[in-house]
Amino acid sequence: MKKKIAILGSTGSIGTQTLDVIAEQPDQFEVLTITANNNADLLIQQALKFKPDNVVIANFDKYNQVKEALKDEDIKIYAGQDAIAQIVEDSNIDMVVASMVGYSGLKPVINAIKAGKSIALANKETLVVAGELIKELTAKHRVSVLPVDSEHSAIFQCLVGEDYNPIEKIMLTASGGPFRMMSADELKKVTAKQALKHPNWDMGAKITIDSATLMNKGFEMIEAKWLFDLAIDQIEVVVHPQSIVHSMVQFEDGAVKAQLGMPDMKVPIAYALSYPLRMKSNNNPRMSLADYASLTFEKPDMERFPNLALSFEAIRKGGNAPCILNAANEIVVDAFLKDRCSFYQMSDIIQQTLNNIHYIESPRYSDFVETDKAAREFALSKL
Ligand code: MN
Repeated sequence: MKKKIAILGSTGSIGTQTLDVIAEQPDQFEVLTITANNNADLLIQQALKFKPDNVVIANFDKYNQVKEALKDEDIKIYAGQDAIAQIVEDSNIDMVVASMVGYSGLKPVINAIKAGKSIALANKETLVVAGELIKELTAKHRVSVLPVDSEHSAIFQCLVGEDYNPIEKIMLTASGGPFRMMSADELKKVTAKQALKHPNWDMGAKITIDSATLMNKGFEMIEAKWLFDLAIDQIEVVVHPQSIVHSMVQFEDGAVKAQLGMPDMKVPIAYALSYPLRMKSNNNPRMSLADYASLTFEKPDMERFPNLALSFEAIRKGGNAPCILNAANEIVVDAFLKDRCSFYQMSDIIQQTLNNIHYIESPRYSDFVETDKAAREFALSKL
């Protein structure tokens, strides 16, 4: 029996790599549904190659283009964000790969959990915004969430066989991003163009900026808290520029397990798809330790990179604070990408948004929708 997969965000960096992984294992997986936000051309290409049952384009303006291009295929075509949130409930789907970017991932993931689908989670914003709610729902519907994020996949792999052994702490590795060595004065003047020359990982534009500001690591810390049920002081962030150690777990006897490998997202993607088995792949790169004269580790600098401190602040506050953090971040990252906001303005606006949006201690889904909207409006007004 082939595992039937829906890929949300199939034209993004994780989505395309997921399709590469699946193309290598056609007798194990079948692509049932693919969805994209805006990239109709690539979505059409993917549909012609993988012949899914359903294709969804979020942008209504692109519906006719997709419909026309696929008119000779036996494929149902839908448009709109609501269609993405509904299609995950399709009874034929076994697993949903949530690889879209940002807050828009939340509703489809909630619906997929309620429909009992396994989730391969690449959309970290889902857990950042609504970690507690997601945890409640996965417990209630007995659904497993398999991490695709490389650090969380590493921790997940370190935990195999450790069911009875509590985690003392995790060490979440960070590449440090392209601006790791810059002074605060230099950081005042950096541009999106400089950030997009990221050294280690092949990623989309939004996560590349998040990686340059260390917000990505802040988000991953929040993601880890919910995935592995940790208190915030059980999470340590370690800068490791070579990106070879993908993260570590320390147990109560002081032993530390690490997962290593070349930085390539296809490895954690494949592990999430085929867990608990490992997928044989000749395409994934092999590591030669001799090529790495040294693996180095250092403490992150929260003064030069205040977004990491803001993430700690938001998760300590809890409630809807991480939702505010995420919404403000989505606005300022978009502005930074368009050269309408400087590096430190991003953190300033996020801080102001955290201070100004109404705090809710135990938010429900509707509170997240309201908070997200209010925080975006506030952050936009500060640009
Ligand atoms: Mn990551």
